[in-house]
Amino acid sequence: MIVDLHNHTILCNHATGSIDEYIQKAIETKTAYFGFSDHAPMDFDPKYRMSFEQMQKYEEDVLNAKEKYKNKINILLGYEVDYLKGHMDDRVLNAKVDYLIGSVHFIEGWGFDNPEFIGKYEEQDIDEIWQKYFDTIEEMANSKLFDIVGHIDLIKVFKFMPKKEISLIAKNALVAIKKADMVLEINVAGYRKPVEEAYPSLTLLELAFKLNIPITFGSDAHEPNQVSLFNDKVIKLAKDVGYTECVYFQNHKRKFIKF
Ligand SMILES: [Zn+2]
Ligand SMILES: [Zn+2]
Repeated sequence: MIVDLHNHTILCNHATGSIDEYIQKAIETKTAYFGFSDHAPMDFDPKYRMSFEQMQKYEEDVLNAKEKYKNKINILLGYEVDYLKGHMDDRVLNAKVDYLIGSVHFIEGWGFDNPEFIGKYEEQDIDEIWQKYFDTIEEMANSKLFDIVGHIDLIKVFKFMPKKEISLIAKNALVAIKKADMVLEINVAGYRKPVEEAYPSLTLLELAFKLNIPITFGSDAHEPNQVSLFNDKVIKLAKDVGYTECVYFQNHKRKFIKF
């Protein structure tokens, strides 16, 4: 991927490989702008993220790598932040980074993308679950705290699909994203999951294109070998919809690059 802004490190406790290994893979696959956006610390679900004390080390490690590889690749620094009311922390929101990805991984405290809690999908009307999820995405956009929307339709991860038309469920969220001037990430992690497609789906990406919402790309790599996987697939997906350029961020400033 020419731009790849969503990648993790071992600090989140569920990824493997060194920062150098991720970058090597990115260089091999001709990435021009490669960003780390590891799970930001939070006082909820601390098991799957770095601690507040580790923020400094994370930022230093990435900035040192940026300097080390500056003649080969542009390294960017970010965080993937959970949009979870009452648990977002100023130390993260005000961190000196290139960008923040806002992601929804919890509906009313339920970690719906964690296989451990998959049983919950059977306990509620599936359309209601989907609507709650996209209402939370809409709230996140309205909060204007983030630069990028992470994996916008993550709720499809285990392929529990709604009966209602998805474009109707997601419409208000997309309009809010446009209004908040956010960038939509095309994230390939879905290809590695039961749903076997990118986030967002073709339908939602077409809607985003109609609304003139800019895009960026993310491997969402949790191991070096996942960097740039499915690159060709997502570039084709974006081009088929009509996109010709994508975004990266430097110090929260948006820059466009053709792909
Ligand atoms: Zn993760
Ligand atoms: Zn995520």
